[in-house]
This record gives sequence, structure tokens and C-alpha cells, in this order.
Amino acid sequence: MGKARRSPGRRRTPPAPPPARERGSRSASRAPAKPPPPPPAKGAPLGSGCPGASEEEEPPSLALGAQRERWLQFQKRQRLSCEEAAKLLLDAFEYQGLVKHTGGCHCGAVRFEVWASDNLHVFDCNCSICVKKQNRHFIVPASHFKLLKGADHLTTYTFNTHSAQHTFCKTCGVQSFYTPRSNPDGYGIAPHCLDDGTITKITVEPINGKEWEKAVKGHPTIRNMSKP
Ligand SMILES: [Zn+2]
Repeated sequence: MGKARRSPGRRRTPPAPPPARERGSRSASRAPAKPPPPPPAKGAPLGSGCPGASEEEEPPSLALGAQRERWLQFQKRQRLSCEEAAKLLLDAFEYQGLVKHTGGCHCGAVRFEVWASDNLHVFDCNCSICVKKQNRHFIVPASHFKLLKGADHLTTYTFNTHSAQHTFCKTCGVQSFYTPRSNPDGYGIAPHCLDDGTITKITVEPINGKEWEKAVKGHPTIRNMSKP
């Protein structure tokens, strides 16, 4: 590992899982456990057309206007709550061309989902720690990663510049994801910790982490891989 670049030592805790159920949205603060009330009557005022959010919770920006009937029909056909329907559409729009992989540690305490290509570009690094733990990983923006459970089962090892956050499961020791020094605003995900069925191809690129400064600064794309 090189030693010249000193990061501000920022520590980032992985996003906490939604409190009540796995299918909650990323902003899981809106009482996700509450069962959705029945859809409002057809004549209901605009802006209350989103069952699942009560009148006082719903900001005016959610007024559905001419899309109200279509939205309600969509929810009904797909059998989704308002929150689930919104998540489905946001995911479909924001993660076009990507697939949702799921994965985790060995004992099952740590579970996550990550949106990435089905054709993964994996770095095989030869720095001091990556060699010891055989830390092959692909890099994603933080917004593409969601910890579903296990925040309290993670422990973190750091060394040298303390930029990389080597998070691993306290129980089984498996590092299924971490925060790389090269991309502190994203995550490095271990492809071998993903569940079967969503990877079609893996391209492995060796990276010379022994000369970290030269390898990362000279790399044409690695820094961009954590940008949404
Ligand atoms: Zn574990």
C-alpha cells in the first residue's frame, strides 16, 4: 500500500436496514409497518391519492393530478402498497440495465441487495490486505447498495491511511462488502458472496495495489465506478 494520500479519516456506517420489513423504501422513515388504508373514493381530493400515506404525512408534491387513476390501477394490478409501487418504479427508472443482486456473509447475519450489471467488472488487488483475504470486488455507488440486515453484526478493520473500511461479520468473519480506499463514496462488493442466479459474466482486472498511488491515480475508470 502507498502512504502519501491522507484522507480525512471519514468513517461511514453502512445504511441501516428498514425497521420493519425488507421491502421498505430507502427512506424508511415513513411508518412503513403501517398497513395501507383502503384506496380513497373516486371523488377524493387530489394529493390524497397515495394510499399508505396519511393526509398529514403526504407532501403536496405527491399530488398525482391526471395520473391518479392510472396510479391506483397500477397499484391494484400489481398488488402493491403505495410505497412498494413507488419503489418499483423508481428502481426501474434509476437502475435501467442493471439487475438486483442479493448476498451476504456465511452465517446469514449480514444480508444486502446491490444494483449492478449482470456482467461484473471485478478488481483483483495485490495490496497487503487484499492478498491475505483474497479480496476480489466490484465497485458500486453507495446509492446502489442497501444493507438489509446485520448492521449490528459488522465490525470494521482499518490500517495505514484508515480510508478503507474493512467491514466483516463478527460471527463468521466473512467480508461480503467493504468501503474501498479508492472509492470511499461507494462500496466494494465480493462477487463470491452474491446469491446464485444473477451473474452472467465476470471480467477480472488485476490492479497493482502494491503501488496504490500509481495504480489508482493512473486508472482510467476506477474512480468513476462509485459515481451514480
Ligand atoms: Zn456472518
